[in-house]
Amino acid sequence: MSTVYFVLPCYNEEAVLPETVKELTAQLQSMMQSGLADENSRMLFVDDGSKDRTWELIEKFHSENPLVSGLKLAHNRGHQNALLAGLMTAKDEADCAISLDADLQDDISILPQFVQKFQDGCDVVYGVRNKRETDTWFKRTTAEGFYKVMEKLGAEVVYNHADYRLMSKRALEALSEYKEVNLFLRGIVPLIGYRSDYVYYDRHERFAGESKYPLKKMLSFAMDGITSFSVKPLKLIANLGIFVALISVVGLLYALISHFMGNTVAGWTAIVCSIWLLGGIQMLCLGIVGEYIGKIYNEVKARPRFRIEKHLK
Ligand code: UDP
Ligand code: MG
Repeated sequence: MSTVYFVLPCYNEEAVLPETVKELTAQLQSMMQSGLADENSRMLFVDDGSKDRTWELIEKFHSENPLVSGLKLAHNRGHQNALLAGLMTAKDEADCAISLDADLQDDISILPQFVQKFQDGCDVVYGVRNKRETDTWFKRTTAEGFYKVMEKLGAEVVYNHADYRLMSKRALEALSEYKEVNLFLRGIVPLIGYRSDYVYYDRHERFAGESKYPLKKMLSFAMDGITSFSVKPLKLIANLGIFVALISVVGLLYALISHFMGNTVAGWTAIVCSIWLLGGIQMLCLGIVGEYIGKIYNEVKARPRFRIEKHLK
């Protein structure tokens, strides 16, 4: 049997917490009875600097319910950081941790399947959404577009997987080696590379409270995801520079022909040619500088360069 931790970041979730605790307690107890989780298993609620009564509620549930643990962050640091705080605490206390949202939008009836796959030897189990019917058309299109863009830019992300996943102790230890501050967990986890599998589920609607991810946060999250995992936008500048420089050659020919046909104002040819050529060269130079910045950026992250999975002696 293994110690299983559920890790739930909570930001202003007083409206959903009582129900969440009730449903998860029932689920965890049934997993304990069926031998999937041992008696040290817990639900770890991470209060991400909420402004409402979230922490008071967590304290109250902790005093009444031995399965509830709590972690209080001093400030609101955002979902990803709150999640990381919870996972890094679980790393020392549990054999595996499952992260999920406090609003129970992620279907909790599949929790046993995660642990089953863990016991079968997987280090990471991704929860993947079957379909996105409960989302608005806008959220669905932007979210799916985002996964596609990430893929094109060369970052490895699991399609339609958010942060509903199980990680083993060893995977959490690997995660702790990634020191980057611009945290985009769903991009880092696939880099860990241990054996992984998928569990499929339908996402429900939030049953109380409102989304803490308005469009502005969604956009900045997407930007973080792209700029934390890809230097391709920098390469794009260099390519654009080459393209503009090539166009300038065509422009040069056109300007020269116009000049010799005599239908130009004096001085026009020289100005037009230099604008295009210089523009192209400048952009190309920016791209070259960008290449170096891209290298610095990768060095600064100091990500682990390899991970040994097995060693036969
Ligand atoms: N959350 C958090 N800190 C924040 C914003 C959100 O810990 O600054 C938590 C929130 O309490 C919830 C989870 O992150 O448990 C997902 O947020 P939400 O349900 O609002 O996002 P959505 O499901 O609408 O994408
Ligand atoms: Mg939600």
